Amino acid sequence: RSIYHFSTAAVLEEPITPPVQIAYTQHLIDGKFVDSASGKKFPTCDPRTGEEIAHVAEGDAEDINRAVSAARKAFDEGPWPKMSAYERSRVLLRFADLVEKHSHDLAALETWDNGKPYEQALKAEVPMLARLFHYYAGWADKIHGLTVPADGNYHVQTLHEPIGVAGQIIPWNFPLLMFAWKVGPALACGNTIVLKSAEQTPLTALYAANLFHEAGLPPGVLNVVSGYGPTAGAALASHMDVDKLAFTGSTDTGKIVLELAAKSNLKPVTLELGGKSPFIVCEDANIDNAVELAHFALFFNQGQCCCAGSRTYVHERVYDEFIQKAKARALKRVVGDPFKSGVEQGPQIDSKQFQKILRYIKSGIESNATLECGGERLGSKGYFIQPTVFSDVKDDMLIAQDEIFGPVQSILKFKNLEDVIKRANATRYGLAAGVFTKSLDTANTLTRALRAGTVWVNCFDVFDAAIPFGGYKMSGIGREKGIYSLNNYLQVKAVITPLKNPAWL
Ligand code: NAD
Repeated sequence: RSIYHFSTAAVLEEPITPPVQIAYTQHLIDGKFVDSASGKKFPTCDPRTGEEIAHVAEGDAEDINRAVSAARKAFDEGPWPKMSAYERSRVLLRFADLVEKHSHDLAALETWDNGKPYEQALKAEVPMLARLFHYYAGWADKIHGLTVPADGNYHVQTLHEPIGVAGQIIPWNFPLLMFAWKVGPALACGNTIVLKSAEQTPLTALYAANLFHEAGLPPGVLNVVSGYGPTAGAALASHMDVDKLAFTGSTDTGKIVLELAAKSNLKPVTLELGGKSPFIVCEDANIDNAVELAHFALFFNQGQCCCAGSRTYVHERVYDEFIQKAKARALKRVVGDPFKSGVEQGPQIDSKQFQKILRYIKSGIESNATLECGGERLGSKGYFIQPTVFSDVKDDMLIAQDEIFGPVQSILKFKNLEDVIKRANATRYGLAAGVFTKSLDTANTLTRALRAGTVWVNCFDVFDAAIPFGGYKMSGIGREKGIYSLNNYLQVKAVITPLKNPAWL
């Protein structure tokens, strides 16, 4: 059994005290923190120990109603959609500055509630949150329609108007980034919002929404309701007064919310769903670099990434060397208390995901994939799992087909480009792919042949506010980030005016 840089006693018996206080646990509706109409609360837990860290207001249909009414009023009567785009842009910029000022609190809350390494939250995610609002602040005053050269004696223009009240439902794996991807473009376009955070990670959305009010966002423009999916989430997806729905989560839930939207008021829906992304290592690759990148592509964020490179395809000529090195790298992975410096991997989010991952590992072993390392729980408290590597994985095994959402790398062998293209595309998902090669021809062939919304060549998980993200096939509908996200939050109105002497005047 492998030896990890991991001390069960130090990490699990005495978890490091998070350097932050929890200030906000109520819903934020119409600019005020309020309890649920029912008075109900639910616990949010520390994934390091499974222990409760706070009780949070539990929203249901009534709280969603209150939040939608506030958002509706702020849209129909409030200043936000009508105020100058420059003023809106300045609110987004002030928010981004406050995020930078409060980065330690935001990162600590994110780590405490989610279990991700604090250094990652502080150095990557919180800066990306600020960056995204700087980016969309730049768009706020550059949204405009066209003058259309239509036939006849008419002046024709298009107005790009905000769509109205946006309902937004986010998952737990990147709570702050998902908040940013949803809220940034919606606010830049002049919409109002009801956001439902994930029940596993309600804390940072409330903290961030409060910063927005400090930044001068008018009451009712951004409302945050905490609660469960089938109650609060479903009420938002089916609400008649919500004009647009944006959802990130699993493909199964995506189907439910799409149906709820269709059966209520036909609100347009964007979906960011699951994935089973191939990471393709070609025979010309520098193996050490490919191993490191494939490791990062899978294990980053405890393997809880929708775009994780969870099918590592390796060319047969370099396969054996790759396996040995991938195993050695996984054995060196630093797992432990995510508040500890140098830790690369914290606990999984909760008991449900933890058990699900262990079941997939069992299924890999039973289907005769070779367990190179890992495969078990670490420690006796919380939801830590050993970095796990399987080789000899076949395409029809469950571990090669389903989204595991955990630290389990599945390595498959391929013969040639034709073979790997066919197999990489033989999935119901199409979110992302990675290609590792020195050949421009190979890179061009693969990037064009792979049916995925993102293809990273000799890199992985490169995210930027300006780069669109979204899925082909059952990985989703639509794109978030970049210029592409603006259309999700705009209506186009055509205005036609006779140029002179209309006959009926
Ligand atoms: P999930 O679908 O269970 O939950 C996501 C959100 O939907 C949560 O806020 C939840 O409360 C809500 N929800 C659940 N049931 C609902 C219902 N009946 N009606 C309305 N809302 C409901 O997913 P999860 O387990 O929280 O997240 C993991 C999944 O999300 C993975 O499959 C992952 O791939 C996907 N994901 C995708 C992206 C992306 O951008 N494509 C990003 C992150 C996560």
